[in-house]
Amino acid sequence: VFRNKLEFFAAAKVSTSIPPPMIPEIAFAGRSNVGKSSLLNALTRQWGVVRTSDKPGLTQTINFFRLASKLCLVDLPGYGFAYAKEEVKDAWEELVKEYVSTRVGLQQVCLLIDTKWGMKPRDHELIDLMERSQTPYQIVLTKTDVVFPIDVARHAMQIQENFKTNKSVINPVMMVSSKSGAGIRNLRTVLAKLARY
Ligand code: GDP
Repeated sequence: VFRNKLEFFAAAKVSTSIPPPMIPEIAFAGRSNVGKSSLLNALTRQWGVVRTSDKPGLTQTINFFRLASKLCLVDLPGYGFAYAKEEVKDAWEELVKEYVSTRVGLQQVCLLIDTKWGMKPRDHELIDLMERSQTPYQIVLTKTDVVFPIDVARHAMQIQENFKTNKSVINPVMMVSSKSGAGIRNLRTVLAKLARY
């Protein structure tokens, strides 16, 4: 499915402009600068469709991309940037929380965590919400190339250990580097299983 052309088809700033669900969806969430756009580019091997930026927090829309009529990839606005105004944060909360907890056809949320920084309160908040709404999610450690392999494994094990009691995290933590390409194929294989064929 990742061989299909990636096509941007909708952006939503408010929940009322979210397009109706039509095909299976996988959403990508995480703090700004976690490497979300880079991961989407690496997964689809289509650079430039999803924009990467060094200025965190500028996109405050949910962006919808499709791979033919098989799979929809959803880029959720990043959170946790220090200089966001309160009203921007509130808008984020409302939009993302509603999407994540109520979306029909949402197969999986990939929650991206920067390997170097680990989990932050906002990540936990999102996990709590997904637990409550029984939204399936997958934790993905990003930028694994910037830390020693032994530390990547240690971070993954810690997260796995912390979430032992959560029933949703049956999926083992995945580890990727969009820069080196490590783990990308693995993640692609896991996500491709959620597509419609
Ligand atoms: P987003 O804000 O979550 O969409 O993050 P971006 O994909 O725009 O990446 C944020 C910054 O991290 C950029 O400077 C990227 O070049 C860098 N980055 C993204 N992925 C990786 C990675 O796998 N390894 C390294 N070393 N840097 C990365």
